[in-house]
Amino acid sequence: MKANQELLHHFSCDQCKYWWAVGSKSFEVGQFLYCTNCGYLNRIDAIDTSRNTPNSSGDTLLAP
Ligand SMILES: [Zn+2]
Repeated sequence: MKANQELLHHFSCDQCKYWWAVGSKSFEVGQFLYCTNCGYLNRIDAIDTSRNTPNSSGDTLLAP
């Protein structure tokens, strides 16, 4: 079996709480991003990855 890893960022607007995702693009802390729903200019304060997000080990799909 082959496996591919996808780069996907999820965003949640500080103003309206709208949620959206952007794939295949890198983002950095401190970057500014307009909300795709309300147009509010958000600053990326932190980026949680699967390595530092609690309870996201991904082990649930692995066979015992
Ligand atoms: Zn918004």
